[in-house]
Amino acid sequence: MSEEKENILIIEDEDPIARILQLELEHEGYNVGRAADGRKGLEMAVSGEWDLVLLDVMLPELNGIEVLRRLRQNDSAVPIILLTARDTVPDKVSGFEHGANDYITKPFAMEELLARVRNLLRIFKASREGESDDVLRIADLSIELMTRKVYRKDHSIDLTPREFELLLYLARHKNIEKTRDEILSDVWGYEYIGDTNVVDVYIRYLRQKMDKGYRHKLLHTVRGVGYMLREPDA
Ligand code: CA
Repeated sequence: MSEEKENILIIEDEDPIARILQLELEHEGYNVGRAADGRKGLEMAVSGEWDLVLLDVMLPELNGIEVLRRLRQNDSAVPIILLTARDTVPDKVSGFEHGANDYITKPFAMEELLARVRNLLRIFKASREGESDDVLRIADLSIELMTRKVYRKDHSIDLTPREFELLLYLARHKNIEKTRDEILSDVWGYEYIGDTNVVDVYIRYLRQKMDKGYRHKLLHTVRGVGYMLREPDA
């Protein structure tokens, strides 16, 4: 552990949530700042030295997506975790489009949130120090976690946010068979349960973009089960 405390900004208008977040984060040894609306949050985010921002989406004054957009426009690269409501799946997609690094759905388990915070801080610290554990590699496929860029060899692959999420999920579970239902609930969320066709459709998109024309196919259909991203010699 480094001696220096990391600074975390919480932008959240629901006072009970903001308070418990602050308590838990301080208990974990972080310095914490708080803003209760989007405008104040943006102000604090650009003027302070933050290692990470927890950003609620539904905020008065400026909503979270707008805060995010303006921060990135301002060339702020601070890691941001969005806090979204369960029934606002589009937020997740538009959040990633505007440069969020992670998101967590309310109501969340505190342990999970703390794990995400630690993880994101670790990745950013590693990338600042020039380590490369912010890149996932499978054969000649590389997935940059921070910039959300994807390459096969040097060829850049342009993915939509959802395609990226799907690829990242399969890459994090490489060489493991995943059922359509698992993929659906883990990548799309529970509200999509039952509609596994969407998984097949997106696998097709992904194949077109990242496997078509390459000698080694990475994305495999597991008959009667689902799909798997597999290293060529695994
Ligand atoms: Ca809110």
